[in-house]
Amino acid sequence: MLENPYVFKIQRYSIHDGPGIRTTLFFQGCPLSCHWCHNPESQKKSLQTDAEDMDRVAADLMEEIERDLIFYDESGGGVTFSGGEPLCQPKLLFKLLDLCRKKEIHTCLDTSGYTDVKILLKAAEKVDLILYDIKLIDETAHQEYTGESGCLVLDNLKQLSNQRANIRLRFPLIPQMTDTDENIGRIMVFLKENTIYRDIHILPLHKAGEAKYNFLNMKNHMEDIQPPSKERVLNVKEQFESRGFGVAIGG
Ligand code: SF4
Repeated sequence: MLENPYVFKIQRYSIHDGPGIRTTLFFQGCPLSCHWCHNPESQKKSLQTDAEDMDRVAADLMEEIERDLIFYDESGGGVTFSGGEPLCQPKLLFKLLDLCRKKEIHTCLDTSGYTDVKILLKAAEKVDLILYDIKLIDETAHQEYTGESGCLVLDNLKQLSNQRANIRLRFPLIPQMTDTDENIGRIMVFLKENTIYRDIHILPLHKAGEAKYNFLNMKNHMEDIQPPSKERVLNVKEQFESRGFGVAIGG
């Protein structure tokens, strides 16, 4: 059982958060409030570790991570830092990334990209693979459905591309929000004009986690919205493929 206020959950044997079998650490705190968020409990503000606490917390977490070394080795997996937004707690994240690299444990960072560019680029040097969400190009829609501007997310993606960072792009397919032909078309144009990335993972909406909204007394924006049909998911896949993108569904 975890006893720190910085990571609110550890999920073992995860197969959707990067390659192979992974242990996923969910960091507390996120600056966004996406309508479709599965982890609304993470949206509370994060705490920063002080120097004294840091070594103890990092050592505890490494112990948890190393418990499943055998699964990582056999499956080509590793550890994924997710959330919430792990980059809200850069000191703890960097410490863990350094420790994992020393032990040759493969690392993924699951990020919204809504962060200071210096922190993001430093993380890119320390991590093996970044899972980066691209949600909406239209600024008004980004504000409406995530609570914040999308400019930073898009600018940061350009910076990562300039550094040729190893990225797996992910597109959450959310009916009535991100799932419009216009948004999909604009995402393709943005990626082609501004980045080196030509592969994308489509993440269709799923309804897991919705009960949390009631429990936390938070507004559930997804109550009347159903996951996209299989046909629609395939249609979106074809739209990307017809413009030369490699597409996977999930992960
Ligand atoms: S960025 Fe991720 S964790 Fe943050 S609110 Fe959006 S879906 Fe939730």
